Amino acid sequence: MTPTLEDRYLHKKLREQLVEELKGKGIVDQAVLNAIGKTPRHYFLDMAFDKIAYEDRAFPIEANQTISQPYTVAFQTQLLQINKGDKVLEIGTGSMYQTAILAALGAHVYTIERQQALVDKTNQFKLLTENQYENIFFFYGDGFLGLPTLAPFDKIIITAAAPNVPEKLWEQLKVNGIMVIPVNETETTQRMFRLTKTSNGMAKKETFEEFSFVPMLSGKGDK
Ligand code: SAH
Repeated sequence: MTPTLEDRYLHKKLREQLVEELKGKGIVDQAVLNAIGKTPRHYFLDMAFDKIAYEDRAFPIEANQTISQPYTVAFQTQLLQINKGDKVLEIGTGSMYQTAILAALGAHVYTIERQQALVDKTNQFKLLTENQYENIFFFYGDGFLGLPTLAPFDKIIITAAAPNVPEKLWEQLKVNGIMVIPVNETETTQRMFRLTKTSNGMAKKETFEEFSFVPMLSGKGDK
Protein backbone atom coordinates (compact mmCIF):
# COMPACT_ATOMS: atom_id res chain seq x y z
CA MET A 1 0.00 0.00 0.00
CA THR A 2 1.12 3.54 -0.65
CA PRO A 3 0.69 6.42 1.73
CA THR A 4 -2.10 8.90 1.16
CA LEU A 5 -0.78 12.31 0.13
CA GLU A 6 -3.90 14.11 1.21
CA ASP A 7 -3.52 16.30 4.27
CA ARG A 8 -7.02 16.77 5.59
CA TYR A 9 -8.52 18.87 8.38
CA LEU A 10 -8.64 15.80 10.61
CA HIS A 11 -4.90 15.20 10.16
CA LYS A 12 -4.15 18.83 11.06
CA LYS A 13 -6.29 18.60 14.20
CA LEU A 14 -4.61 15.35 15.24
CA ARG A 15 -1.20 16.97 14.67
CA GLU A 16 -2.15 19.89 16.89
CA GLN A 17 -3.07 17.40 19.61
CA LEU A 18 0.23 15.58 19.13
CA VAL A 19 2.15 18.85 19.52
CA GLU A 20 0.30 19.53 22.80
CA GLU A 21 1.08 16.00 23.98
CA LEU A 22 4.79 16.46 23.19
CA LYS A 23 4.81 19.79 25.08
CA GLY A 24 3.29 17.95 28.04
CA LYS A 25 6.11 15.40 27.84
CA GLY A 26 8.75 18.13 28.06
CA ILE A 27 9.59 19.15 24.48
CA VAL A 28 10.17 22.90 24.70
CA ASP A 29 11.91 23.90 21.45
CA GLN A 30 9.25 25.83 19.55
CA ALA A 31 10.95 25.37 16.17
CA VAL A 32 10.88 21.59 16.66
CA LEU A 33 7.23 21.69 17.74
CA ASN A 34 6.39 23.79 14.64
CA ALA A 35 8.17 21.29 12.39
CA ILE A 36 6.13 18.43 13.93
CA GLY A 37 2.99 20.57 13.60
CA LYS A 38 3.47 21.05 9.88
CA THR A 39 4.86 17.65 8.80
CA PRO A 40 2.20 15.11 7.79
CA ARG A 41 3.39 11.96 9.57
CA HIS A 42 0.68 9.89 7.83
CA TYR A 43 2.53 10.45 4.51
CA PHE A 44 5.31 8.24 5.87
CA LEU A 45 3.09 5.33 6.86
CA ASP A 46 0.86 2.89 5.03
CA MET A 47 -2.75 3.94 4.56
CA ALA A 48 -3.80 1.43 7.20
CA PHE A 49 -2.24 3.76 9.78
CA ASP A 50 -3.95 6.90 8.49
CA LYS A 51 -6.12 7.45 11.57
CA ILE A 52 -3.55 6.47 14.17
CA ALA A 53 -0.50 8.13 12.57
CA TYR A 54 -0.60 10.91 15.17
CA GLU A 55 -0.53 8.69 18.20
CA ASP A 56 2.76 9.07 20.05
CA ARG A 57 3.89 5.57 19.14
CA ALA A 58 6.39 3.79 16.92
CA PHE A 59 4.84 1.73 14.09
CA PRO A 60 6.14 -1.01 11.82
CA ILE A 61 7.30 -0.05 8.32
CA GLU A 62 8.76 -2.13 5.47
CA ALA A 63 11.74 -4.46 5.91
CA ASN A 64 10.89 -5.19 9.57
CA GLN A 65 11.90 -1.69 10.65
CA THR A 66 10.02 1.01 12.54
CA ILE A 67 9.10 4.66 12.25
CA SER A 68 10.35 6.26 15.47
CA GLN A 69 7.89 7.50 18.07
CA PRO A 70 7.21 11.27 17.62
CA TYR A 71 8.51 11.94 21.14
CA THR A 72 11.82 10.28 20.22
CA VAL A 73 12.04 12.26 16.98
CA ALA A 74 11.28 15.51 18.83
CA PHE A 75 13.77 14.67 21.60
CA GLN A 76 16.65 13.85 19.26
CA THR A 77 15.90 16.86 17.04
CA GLN A 78 15.76 19.19 20.03
CA LEU A 79 19.18 17.94 21.18
CA LEU A 80 20.68 18.62 17.75
CA GLN A 81 19.97 22.39 17.93
CA ILE A 82 19.47 22.70 14.18
CA ASN A 83 20.29 26.01 12.52
CA LYS A 84 18.99 26.79 9.05
CA GLY A 85 21.55 25.58 6.49
CA ASP A 86 23.18 23.01 8.81
CA LYS A 87 24.69 20.07 6.98
CA VAL A 88 23.32 17.02 8.77
CA LEU A 89 24.23 13.35 8.41
CA GLU A 90 21.47 10.96 9.44
CA ILE A 91 22.01 7.22 9.90
CA GLY A 92 18.82 5.16 9.45
CA THR A 93 16.43 6.87 7.00
CA GLY A 94 13.69 4.32 7.73
CA SER A 95 10.35 5.96 6.91
CA MET A 96 12.02 9.33 6.28
CA TYR A 97 9.86 11.03 8.94
CA GLN A 98 12.82 12.15 11.09
CA THR A 99 14.55 13.23 7.87
CA ALA A 100 11.55 15.38 6.91
CA ILE A 101 11.51 17.04 10.34
CA LEU A 102 15.19 17.99 9.95
CA ALA A 103 14.49 19.30 6.45
CA ALA A 104 11.53 21.33 7.75
CA LEU A 105 13.98 23.06 10.10
CA GLY A 106 16.06 24.15 7.10
CA ALA A 107 18.83 21.54 7.38
CA HIS A 108 20.48 19.94 4.36
CA VAL A 109 20.07 16.29 5.20
CA TYR A 110 22.32 13.49 3.94
CA THR A 111 20.63 10.30 5.05
CA ILE A 112 21.89 6.71 4.82
CA GLU A 113 19.80 3.53 4.92
CA ARG A 114 21.04 -0.07 4.65
CA GLN A 115 17.72 -1.51 3.42
CA GLN A 116 17.34 -1.09 -0.34
CA ALA A 117 13.53 -1.33 -0.18
CA LEU A 118 13.38 1.68 2.14
CA VAL A 119 15.76 3.75 0.00
CA ASP A 120 13.65 3.03 -3.09
CA LYS A 121 10.50 3.99 -1.28
CA THR A 122 11.86 7.29 0.02
CA ASN A 123 13.22 8.20 -3.43
CA GLN A 124 9.77 7.58 -4.94
CA PHE A 125 8.21 9.63 -2.18
CA LYS A 126 10.51 12.55 -2.92
CA LEU A 127 9.35 12.47 -6.55
CA LEU A 128 5.70 12.28 -5.50
CA THR A 129 6.05 15.42 -3.43
CA GLU A 130 7.47 17.30 -6.46
CA ASN A 131 10.73 18.18 -4.85
CA GLN A 132 9.20 19.69 -1.77
CA TYR A 133 12.13 17.94 -0.10
CA GLU A 134 14.94 19.14 -2.34
CA ASN A 135 17.25 19.56 0.69
CA ILE A 136 17.27 15.78 1.33
CA PHE A 137 19.80 13.42 -0.26
CA PHE A 138 19.40 9.63 0.07
CA PHE A 139 22.20 7.09 0.19
CA TYR A 140 22.04 3.30 0.21
CA GLY A 141 24.92 2.07 2.32
CA ASP A 142 26.33 1.17 5.68
CA GLY A 143 25.90 4.03 8.11
CA PHE A 144 28.87 2.86 10.19
CA LEU A 145 31.03 4.22 7.37
CA GLY A 146 29.25 7.57 7.01
CA LEU A 147 29.88 9.66 3.90
CA PRO A 148 33.59 10.53 4.02
CA THR A 149 33.58 12.35 0.67
CA LEU A 150 30.85 14.71 1.86
CA ALA A 151 32.26 15.30 5.36
CA PRO A 152 32.55 17.25 7.55
CA PHE A 153 29.04 17.64 8.96
CA ASP A 154 27.67 20.20 11.41
CA LYS A 155 25.45 17.60 13.03
CA ILE A 156 25.15 13.80 13.02
CA ILE A 157 22.09 11.87 14.19
CA ILE A 158 21.89 8.12 14.58
CA THR A 159 18.35 6.70 14.69
CA ALA A 160 19.21 3.04 15.40
CA ALA A 161 20.66 1.44 18.53
CA ALA A 162 24.43 1.84 18.29
CA PRO A 163 26.85 -0.57 19.99
CA ASN A 164 29.27 2.35 20.55
CA VAL A 165 30.17 5.70 18.99
CA PRO A 166 31.38 4.69 15.50
CA GLU A 167 34.85 6.13 15.03
CA LYS A 168 34.39 6.91 11.34
CA LEU A 169 31.29 8.95 12.10
CA TRP A 170 33.06 10.86 14.86
CA GLU A 171 35.84 11.76 12.39
CA GLN A 172 33.22 13.21 10.02
CA LEU A 173 31.88 15.68 12.58
CA LYS A 174 33.09 19.30 12.55
CA VAL A 175 34.74 20.86 15.58
CA ASN A 176 31.90 22.30 17.70
CA GLY A 177 29.59 19.91 15.84
CA ILE A 178 26.98 17.84 17.66
CA MET A 179 26.29 14.09 17.48
CA VAL A 180 23.09 12.65 18.97
CA ILE A 181 23.29 8.90 19.38
CA PRO A 182 21.43 6.20 21.34
CA VAL A 183 24.11 3.82 22.65
CA ASN A 184 23.31 0.31 23.93
CA GLU A 185 23.11 0.14 27.70
CA THR A 186 21.19 -3.09 28.22
CA GLU A 187 20.05 -5.70 25.67
CA THR A 188 16.87 -3.79 25.00
CA THR A 189 17.55 -0.18 25.89
CA GLN A 190 19.85 2.62 24.86
CA ARG A 191 21.02 5.74 26.65
CA MET A 192 20.72 8.94 24.58
CA PHE A 193 24.02 10.82 24.35
CA ARG A 194 24.75 14.26 23.02
CA LEU A 195 28.43 14.57 22.10
CA THR A 196 29.93 17.93 21.17
CA LYS A 197 33.32 17.88 19.46
CA THR A 198 35.86 20.10 21.18
CA SER A 199 38.77 21.82 19.39
CA ASN A 200 41.17 18.97 20.29
CA GLY A 201 38.79 16.40 18.79
CA MET A 202 37.55 15.12 22.17
CA ALA A 203 33.90 14.84 23.17
CA LYS A 204 31.91 16.86 25.67
CA LYS A 205 29.38 14.21 26.70
CA GLU A 206 25.86 14.78 28.02
CA THR A 207 23.58 11.88 28.90
CA PHE A 208 19.80 11.82 28.74
CA GLU A 209 16.99 9.34 29.23
CA GLU A 210 16.68 5.76 27.95
CA PHE A 211 15.08 4.83 24.63
CA SER A 212 14.45 1.67 22.65
CA PHE A 213 15.52 1.53 18.99
CA VAL A 214 15.93 -1.21 16.38
CA PRO A 215 19.59 -2.24 16.13
CA MET A 216 22.23 -0.50 14.04
CA LEU A 217 23.62 -3.33 11.85
CA SER A 218 26.77 -3.32 9.77
CA GLY A 219 26.85 -3.87 6.03
CA LYS A 220 24.05 -3.43 3.54
CA GLY A 221 21.29 -5.96 3.35
CA ASP A 222 17.97 -7.39 4.24
CA LYS A 223 18.75 -8.88 7.62
N1 SAH B 1 14.44 7.64 11.55
C1 SAH B 1 13.69 6.48 11.18
C2 SAH B 1 14.01 5.34 12.11
C3 SAH B 1 13.91 4.04 11.44
S1 SAH B 1 14.43 2.68 12.41
C4 SAH B 1 12.20 6.76 11.19
O1 SAH B 1 11.73 7.49 12.07
O2 SAH B 1 11.48 6.20 10.37
C5 SAH B 1 16.16 2.64 12.11
C6 SAH B 1 16.60 2.47 10.68
O3 SAH B 1 18.03 2.37 10.71
C7 SAH B 1 16.09 1.21 9.99
O4 SAH B 1 15.45 1.56 8.80
C8 SAH B 1 17.36 0.39 9.75
O5 SAH B 1 17.32 -0.35 8.54
C9 SAH B 1 18.41 1.47 9.68
N2 SAH B 1 19.78 1.03 9.95
C10 SAH B 1 20.24 0.15 10.88
N3 SAH B 1 21.58 0.01 10.80
C11 SAH B 1 21.99 0.85 9.80
C12 SAH B 1 23.26 1.15 9.23
N4 SAH B 1 24.39 0.57 9.64
N5 SAH B 1 23.30 2.05 8.22
C13 SAH B 1 22.17 2.64 7.77
N6 SAH B 1 20.95 2.39 8.26
C14 SAH B 1 20.85 1.51 9.26
